[in-house]
Amino acid sequence: MDETISSNIENILKELPPQVKLVAVSKFHPVESIVEALHAGQHRFAESRPQEFAAKYEELHSRLGVPREDIEWHFIGHLQTNKLKLVLPHADLVQSVDTIHLLRAVDSWGREASRTVNVLLELHLGAEQTKQGFVEEEILDILFHAADYCNVRFCGLMGMATNTDNEDDIRADFARISHFMNYLRDLFPELDSFRELSIGMSDDWRIAVGYGATMVRIGTAIFGPRQY
Ligand SMILES: *Cc1c(COP(=O)(O)O)cnc(C)c1O
Repeated sequence: MDETISSNIENILKELPPQVKLVAVSKFHPVESIVEALHAGQHRFAESRPQEFAAKYEELHSRLGVPREDIEWHFIGHLQTNKLKLVLPHADLVQSVDTIHLLRAVDSWGREASRTVNVLLELHLGAEQTKQGFVEEEILDILFHAADYCNVRFCGLMGMATNTDNEDDIRADFARISHFMNYLRDLFPELDSFRELSIGMSDDWRIAVGYGATMVRIGTAIFGPRQY
């Protein structure tokens, strides 16, 4: 058996402060890789494509008989409202809520399913025009009206730093989301679930930890390069 995945996880955990949650990003990797990570003691995974997520969930928990409670599932990808049924029944946390339209749809789904959906609000960071996410004002507006979303639990913020080798730019992005997180926690002390700061990926998670990340989302550094 290939030991690479387990030794990658082991090496990351050696460096990751114990209070920071490791989210293993398994998108584009086969279920066998998830099983290998499970054997290495990793129990928190994230997927980014609805169909792929639903198929892997089914395979792991139905066909392979992995107990549901053995995996904490996160969804981190772009989510269209017509795909909610593939994701929301299975996701323990949706990290990538990035529009009001999606937030409202998630809340409605929760109402119909009698469920409360755990979400992170994605803050737009970085220079890239195309990158999804809210601006600060939109997030403030949502949280001022948090009580209107009865079937959503606001658990914190997610952000992706600018895709660059320039460490100063990455630090500027992480500083911005980290300050905003602290500001929101002070402003909305009643939202006691609002505590997660999901920043940091394979190339920048060590930097993210210095800016108060409570979870890091690592794919390539665990599973190797993705075959698109
Ligand atoms: C793919 C992805 C990751 C993981 O990226 P790596 O560089 O492979 O660690 C993290 N977060 C999000 C939102 C992603 O889409």
